[in-house]
Amino acid sequence: MPRVSLTGRLLAARAQREAAHRRRQLRTVSMRDGVHCRVDGRELLNFCSNDYLGLSQHPRMIGALRDAASEGAGSTASHLVCGHGARHAALEAELADWLQAPRALLFGSGYMANLAVVQALLGDGDLCVQDRLNHASLIDAARLAGCTLKRYPHADAEGAARQLASHQDGAALLASDGVFSMDGDVAPLRALAQVAREQQATLYIDDAHGIGVLGEAGRGSVEAAGLAPADAPLRLVTFGKALGSVGAAVVGDADLVAHLAEAARPYIYTTALPPAQVAATREAVRIAREGDALRGQLRASIQRLKQGARAHGLALMPSDTPIQPLVVGSETHALAMADALEARGYWVAAIRPPTVPQGSARLRITLSAAHDPQQIDGLLDALAQARDAVMP
Ligand code: PMP
Repeated sequence: MPRVSLTGRLLAARAQREAAHRRRQLRTVSMRDGVHCRVDGRELLNFCSNDYLGLSQHPRMIGALRDAASEGAGSTASHLVCGHGARHAALEAELADWLQAPRALLFGSGYMANLAVVQALLGDGDLCVQDRLNHASLIDAARLAGCTLKRYPHADAEGAARQLASHQDGAALLASDGVFSMDGDVAPLRALAQVAREQQATLYIDDAHGIGVLGEAGRGSVEAAGLAPADAPLRLVTFGKALGSVGAAVVGDADLVAHLAEAARPYIYTTALPPAQVAATREAVRIAREGDALRGQLRASIQRLKQGARAHGLALMPSDTPIQPLVVGSETHALAMADALEARGYWVAAIRPPTVPQGSARLRITLSAAHDPQQIDGLLDALAQARDAVMP
């Protein structure tokens, strides 16, 4: 038997994706100024970034980057060799203080942090119970760890309890997104915390989309749910969304976090974040902590979009976060609506399976504190027109 041709196989897979309208296209942003951007030569208003507080170009962030730039472009090594500098230590301390957690540990990205947590804590014979709609990196993490992965229906804490109860041997981690990235809803965190307590599982909340946005001082979904930091002994904070930077941290219980620093392969075998980037992230944390005005603007935008959508007969998914999806069902309709919006100057991402379940292709509209009311009203008109044109 001749060996399988890799190229032949991937070309066949590509043709299948093409037929199912699932090809993914890389777009190049040649200019970005707040929510204004130029994409492939066209001026668009951005309604698909995760820059929820508009911090990515904040003058204080850019100033922090510039001030630290003389320290060099890279950290030169992994944390445990010689890459862990005073900037990294200061950001970890700032995060621990902000999030009222005993310890914080930096990672190159949220994706790597999720791999790290599950791989370092669980192995063969252990159990990882996850919401069916958790982010891909959490699912991949359980596969990498070699533990048993059990998923429960979305936001179903009783389902989580059943999955935990069905597998009593070994250690257990109950992992959920705090805010679901493609739906925008918030996990039933109080119920999950109770289930974790009853089932002696460790609760891990991926708060990539909650941090900076929800809760007192932007402390995220766990705080917004009225839980104490210790109720979720591990939390993921990503820097690439509301904090406008890049990288991530796991914050929480000192022993658990210390173990990650010594045993997590995605921590040990990778280069530490560049110091200037870390300095910018620290500035972002400070802005986010005192960012009630930005959060107020964001909340007003969310309310305006939701009310306007109701008035236009656009059924947004139930969400009070900056992620406001409009499910359209088929891939072709989602793509056609995104194209129609783009023709009118609005950039909204069409999200299709396998990122979201079959039959639930959607426009993932995201809001930023930098949007103004006229821009939101314009988007609503364009959405209604696109819907009427694509799905008459
Ligand atoms: N978790 C969730 C819920 C996310 O949405 C993302 C980013 N899409 C990540 C983790 C990964 O974070 P990062 O982009 O920092 O790798």
